[in-house]
Amino acid sequence: ATEKQTMGFQAEVKQLLQLMIHSLYSNKEIFLRELVSNASDAADKLRFEAINNAGLYEDDPELKIRISFDKAARTITISDNGIGMNRDEAISHLGTIAKSGTKEFFSRLSGDQQKDAALIGQFGVGFYSGFIIADRITVETRRAGTPAAEGVRWESEGAGDFSIEQIDKPSRGTDIILHLREGEDEFLSAWQLKSIIRKYSDHISLPILMHKEEWDEEKKETVQKDELETVNQASALWSRSKSEITPEQYEEFYKHVSHDFGAPLAYTHNRVEGRSEYTQLLYIPARAPFDLWDRNKRGGIKLYVKRVFIMDDAEQLMPVYLRFVKGVIDSADLPLNVSREILQESRDVRAIRDGSAKRVLGLLEELANSEDQAQKDKYATFWTEFGQVLKEGIGEDAANKERIAKLLRFASTHNDSEVQNVALADYLGRMKEGQDKIYYVTAETFQAAKNSPHLEIFRKKGVEVLLLTDRVDEWMLSFLTEFEGKELASVAKGGLDLGQLENEAEKKQHEDTQAEYKDLVEKMKTALADKAKDVRVTFRLTDSPACLVADENELSGNLVRMLKAAGQ
Ligand code: ADP
Ligand code: MG
Repeated sequence: ATEKQTMGFQAEVKQLLQLMIHSLYSNKEIFLRELVSNASDAADKLRFEAINNAGLYEDDPELKIRISFDKAARTITISDNGIGMNRDEAISHLGTIAKSGTKEFFSRLSGDQQKDAALIGQFGVGFYSGFIIADRITVETRRAGTPAAEGVRWESEGAGDFSIEQIDKPSRGTDIILHLREGEDEFLSAWQLKSIIRKYSDHISLPILMHKEEWDEEKKETVQKDELETVNQASALWSRSKSEITPEQYEEFYKHVSHDFGAPLAYTHNRVEGRSEYTQLLYIPARAPFDLWDRNKRGGIKLYVKRVFIMDDAEQLMPVYLRFVKGVIDSADLPLNVSREILQESRDVRAIRDGSAKRVLGLLEELANSEDQAQKDKYATFWTEFGQVLKEGIGEDAANKERIAKLLRFASTHNDSEVQNVALADYLGRMKEGQDKIYYVTAETFQAAKNSPHLEIFRKKGVEVLLLTDRVDEWMLSFLTEFEGKELASVAKGGLDLGQLENEAEKKQHEDTQAEYKDLVEKMKTALADKAKDVRVTFRLTDSPACLVADENELSGNLVRMLKAAGQ
């Protein structure tokens, strides 16, 4: 197919383009960050594929990004000599949105511009952000390793469709040509472009080149020289020393690796030496992604080996319950041709995963235990966004169970608030004289938990009960049976031994009552023989006449309901 063809965008692309142009306009300079980020990804992909096929470098082995502008034509061009795209790739990568969670994203749009702008930011707009300042984008690209005659020109005005045709393209990689909208001429300036690059893209490890400028006495203006200069620092950010990296640079690097538009909540950057040598730069996002619960979703860690990009989503480098962590791990030990299969087996990888988990837990502890209110607030945000995922660690990571247990936060009868902000240590500190257990109730909703009849006796005695209503709680509790020597006990199970919380007079009274109602209880047992395993006089209720309890060794009512719902 050599002749030019016109195709329609996927419906979601059209929707996104409309929305983005309007709502991100106030922040329009980010287009350059997005396009540079893509160029850098393209170089990473080429370097990786070339490990097993050096021919892909053709005669052009120095990977770089070039940015130029043409005042007369009113265009800005971002060029890379990375992996490039063939025809099919251009059609699918630039004409559709393959991101998981896309449907859910569109269903959340409200029509309110400000709210939607925040959402789009979270979703990430990438390539299409070029249309904020361009009314036409031309992409000329050739995939590494394909003949010059198989170049591709993709062009669109960002409305409903795009055209695609075959062209001759001797140089490998991609040129993105932005034809500026009326009124966007401020970007046709070397000074302006360079300052945007330094602000957003300084961390990019490839050189970003632009023409040097000099003053022309005759023309009385600056003119571009043929000579190029490198605008950014052009060294991998994570390999620089901490003291040389500003918070802004850390933040921009996060946006690059995570494809998130917002700032991260916290990060940790370390060089680990010893048996296994690696550098880790790990971020905790401030917001959960749309697909946090997608079980097929891979992690957010990019693996590099000695600065060479190896793979995205290296899920072996982080335990599943920390799948929300984003960042880079650069190993000095792994072979360059490492595959996912090798990663699974490798002892080095296990050491990295253990080390990474410890770092992330340490970072969370720092936030949670800080005296500084701003840090504490960050932990509260973290818990709201990712607490349910962290709970999975109680079952998944036996070695760090204690540390994770300390990071848990619950709703409780202490304040009867739905906000999960009570730590187990807080609970221990408020235990009553004679109390030897940590009591909890599980239910499907907060209202159901809070109003459970099982709580009556505890409320009367002023004993705090944790209110557990997350789906993962029952499962987690099967691994969390005690905390600092105190058993965790359900208020809805078994014969409820309140131990020393009851005084002698109460115990005597209970025995008398039991004797008094012995006959009645026997009658009820016979009547309910095929419905109830046992019938007992209870002292746990103060207002309700009766309640159902699970046997000590049985699944709780809530878990039975959950299993039924799951078709078990
Ligand atoms: P993302 O970068 O999050 O994948 P983008 O919208 O920025 O999303 O880019 C969409 C896709 O288009 C990329 O994943 C990539 O496959 C392709 N692409 C964009 N720019 C380039 C480029 N300069 N070289 C090669 N492929 C590119
Ligand atoms: Mg991108």
